[in-house]
Amino acid sequence: MTRQFFVGGNFKMNGSEKAITTIVDNLNKADLPKNVEVVLCPPYPYLAQVVAQNKQSTVKVGAQNCYCKASGAYTGEVSPDFLKDLGVDFVILGHSERRTIFHESDELVADKVKFALEKGLKVMLCIGETIDEKKAGKTLSVCQRELKAVVQKVKDWSNIVVAYEPIWAIGTGLTAKAEDAEEIHADIRKYLSTVIGKQAESVRILYGGSANGSNAPTFKGKTNVDGFLVGGASLKPEFADIIKSRQ
Ligand code: PEP
Repeated sequence: MTRQFFVGGNFKMNGSEKAITTIVDNLNKADLPKNVEVVLCPPYPYLAQVVAQNKQSTVKVGAQNCYCKASGAYTGEVSPDFLKDLGVDFVILGHSERRTIFHESDELVADKVKFALEKGLKVMLCIGETIDEKKAGKTLSVCQRELKAVVQKVKDWSNIVVAYEPIWAIGTGLTAKAEDAEEIHADIRKYLSTVIGKQAESVRILYGGSANGSNAPTFKGKTNVDGFLVGGASLKPEFADIIKSRQ
């Protein structure tokens, strides 16, 4: 089974109109491979700007979050309908920063995934363990728990990309070894096949956690690592190197 290589850029709460224009301009000028799906996820206020400035047909735009209601008295929240209106295709849900800092439960994340899919968005669903959970040998059980919450609410996984992002690797400069990531990704896929069946073969599983232009090529040949979700390095010119890392 060949799965299209996928690279997401999560700008987190970084950027400005000028800085984001520079990032998009650089990508517009880059000779990007046509067989890689790329998704840029700027903060909400810059989504429309990125949709308008992007000239690359393989580059799509994603939001970093959205709520599980269409409209109403939910001050400060963003509806998937608003994102669709802006020409946004993807949304990141369940990022560890949402789960830990904003206390999003597995159940809320699952509700958001279900609703975003119903509204026509594609989802990058983030899962992953803390350092203490890793040390306690709970990596897979944590990933399974986070996935199970979504499995219970969503039957069709064709518009979900899973991002395995060990929390100890996010923004820390510590990257999982490619061999270790491959093993965990294979285990995640095996688990998915027990709960969603054959669809699991086509679900892309990205690695996220201090991926950069230098370490991305070390994941080449890891058949269950279908791409990267990139934080810090997505703000830098090396993001294009990550996109090209499978060529
Ligand atoms: C992320 O925020 O999803 C991420 C992987 O961040 P970083 O690449 O900076 O570790």
